[in-house]
Amino acid sequence: MATTTDYYAALGVDRGATDAEIKKAFRKLAQQWHPDVNSDPAAQERFKTINQAYQVLSDPERRQRYDLFGSAGVEGDPNMAGFGGFADIFDAFFGGTAGAAGGRRGRPAGGSDLRYDLRITFTEAVLGADKDIEFPVLGRCETCSGSGAKAGTQAVACTQCKGRGEVRSIRQTMLGQMVNVTACPRCQGDGKIVEAPCETCRGDGRVERKRSLRVSIPAGIDEGHQIRLSNEGEVGPRGGPAGSLYVAIHVAPHPELKRDGTELYFEASVGIAQAALGTRILVPTVEGEEDVEVKPGTQPGTEIRLRGRGVPHLRRAGARGDLHVILDVAVPTRLSKAEREALKAYADAAGEVVAEGSGIFDRVRDALG
Ligand code: ZN
Repeated sequence: MATTTDYYAALGVDRGATDAEIKKAFRKLAQQWHPDVNSDPAAQERFKTINQAYQVLSDPERRQRYDLFGSAGVEGDPNMAGFGGFADIFDAFFGGTAGAAGGRRGRPAGGSDLRYDLRITFTEAVLGADKDIEFPVLGRCETCSGSGAKAGTQAVACTQCKGRGEVRSIRQTMLGQMVNVTACPRCQGDGKIVEAPCETCRGDGRVERKRSLRVSIPAGIDEGHQIRLSNEGEVGPRGGPAGSLYVAIHVAPHPELKRDGTELYFEASVGIAQAALGTRILVPTVEGEEDVEVKPGTQPGTEIRLRGRGVPHLRRAGARGDLHVILDVAVPTRLSKAEREALKAYADAAGEVVAEGSGIFDRVRDALG
């Protein structure tokens, strides 16, 4: 797949084009570049690009992914992978019924993509980790090396399509006469027929087995991210290519740290005397506890920033966010007699007028204290 193609440019529409405009542009270009109409040798490639562009931009979900992530956003799309022929695209466009199986052209079908949900700790997400996973997967049958044929025998060319995997018929469309290509109904597009099936896999070429894999989790990954491992999904039947494995990441919350992208936050609480006189506190970080100075005269809401102690950027090597320590100053709600005396003495010294003891509860508490 051409990964750098600008699909909007390919169809000659702007990025805000409506569905109707995209469809109209595609129809016009298709009439011009379809290889059955245009004998220019470059027409086939050109038409393929136009097709791809239309496949992506005419589907709201794919278009959104393409807008967000470019070609990479639609690359792994299992529904895009199988399309290679022209007829199936045209059938989809003009209301034909060939469906996605059309136009496989003798290539064995690909295997399914798999999803594995992987739970990791908060620290593993921030610092990265290697995780061993194990999962059941349809892998290649070793008895027949994936061919599906019994030992000593081979799959033979399908007699209906003569090994091509497709059957052609002529049909009339609004563009004139067109060749309609569909998957051969006898061999399902494989082009080959297994006459004596392998006894291990019963002719499928695959058996279920457990696979172990080490997945490298990049530092800075976050909840909901997926890691795509191509060729680690299910293998296709009878030697078909393997699908992808998508490892979906789930991150356990940290008991004290909060994360927002590359930034970490920690809320610390100090007493009024600590805030006024200064102190040292222990701050949890993903690398362990850090001794941090609280300066004399610290105000509630003050932020102490530990630079480079946040989360590494997933895509910018070496760049790392900060850890923000937000200081809360806890004003005591209950005072012992000694504390009260000390604070009164402070108020006297500071010239603060305290009109306390006016409430009934304070007087009761004073009496008891
Ligand atoms: Zn086998």
